[in-house]
Amino acid sequence: MGEPRIRDALDQVPEYRAGKPPAPGSGPSYKLSSNENPYGMLPRAEEAVREAATRVHRYPDMGARLLYEALAQRHGVAPERLAAATGSVAVLYHLLQAVCEPGDEVVYAWRSFEAYPIAVRLVGATPVEVPVTPTAEHDLEAMADAISPRTRVVVLCTPNNPTGPAISGADVLAFVRRVPADVLVVVDEAYVEFVRPAVDTARGGALPIVADHDNVVVLRTFSKAYGLAGLRVGYAVAPERIASAVRKVALPFGVSDLAQVAAVASLDDEDVMRERVEHLVSERTRVLAGLRAAGWFVPDSQANFVWLPTGAETMDVAAAFEQRGVSVRPFPGDGIRVTIGEDEANDLVLEVARGLSR
Ligand SMILES: *Cc1c(COP(=O)(O)O)cnc(C)c1O
Repeated sequence: MGEPRIRDALDQVPEYRAGKPPAPGSGPSYKLSSNENPYGMLPRAEEAVREAATRVHRYPDMGARLLYEALAQRHGVAPERLAAATGSVAVLYHLLQAVCEPGDEVVYAWRSFEAYPIAVRLVGATPVEVPVTPTAEHDLEAMADAISPRTRVVVLCTPNNPTGPAISGADVLAFVRRVPADVLVVVDEAYVEFVRPAVDTARGGALPIVADHDNVVVLRTFSKAYGLAGLRVGYAVAPERIASAVRKVALPFGVSDLAQVAAVASLDDEDVMRERVEHLVSERTRVLAGLRAAGWFVPDSQANFVWLPTGAETMDVAAAFEQRGVSVRPFPGDGIRVTIGEDEANDLVLEVARGLSR
């Protein structure tokens, strides 16, 4: 008699595997599996959220007017060039829904962010994965060569999750110049605040490239540096017609009132954000140096995590971390991503890593 039909495209969709919380055990435990900020939200955001908690029986401002105004001012762009959604992953989903037909191709590096293959397959498009270099960087040459007449989108992840290296602004620009004007280049800058030497996060990164090109979009999020992962808010800075298409696709009332006020207040508390990020960056430097001194090969990281290319030993090494109360993010057969957390958590990471012979 049959049963309700589910689209064939979904057969190809892997399920998103979220970072696990640490297994309960004795001693302190640390969740270093999801690249979260260990310090919580910014003080002004917390204040705003407390105040807004009294009105959660109301729908949020559907136009997210204050959020768009604050972002427009920060980036020096018209609000029409912005599109916010429930995290920058949602923005990417909306973007692909807006531009991809079934059978279209989306090019991205691999290994990169695991949301990409899911998002691409959900719209019935075909992923074209271009291997990263031996030092875990985007192979921009090969990515440009992978563009075909079916290619609608290329995603650049900088810094690259989960491997760590960033792409320089000059290299992004050179790449964009090689891409046909009808192919969208999405630059996912989820970790831009952690890049050193520091990028001007308000006006720099790939934002100047967006200003000059009708086919370039930058994605930003409040989930990492700003510590709002649980509230779900991210956005695109894009050419006006692209931003408008993304806003059409987005769920109405998607970004909650709490998320809107927290994001706005966070933009007004950036000194604290920068202090916290600076400390995490110095911890990253310490962890990278400690791992290398212990004999590990670790690619450069410009984000709030490091990548251990553990290959076939991945699950064993992950188990060794778990046993000590450190939850990490293993990618079986490939490597392990370890978030930079509290100082004590990072101490423990180094201790465990030193104990594993390399
Ligand atoms: C964390 C992350 C995001 C942002 O996720 P949100 O949906 O905004 O929480 C986007 N891109 C990459 C590569 C990430 O690692």
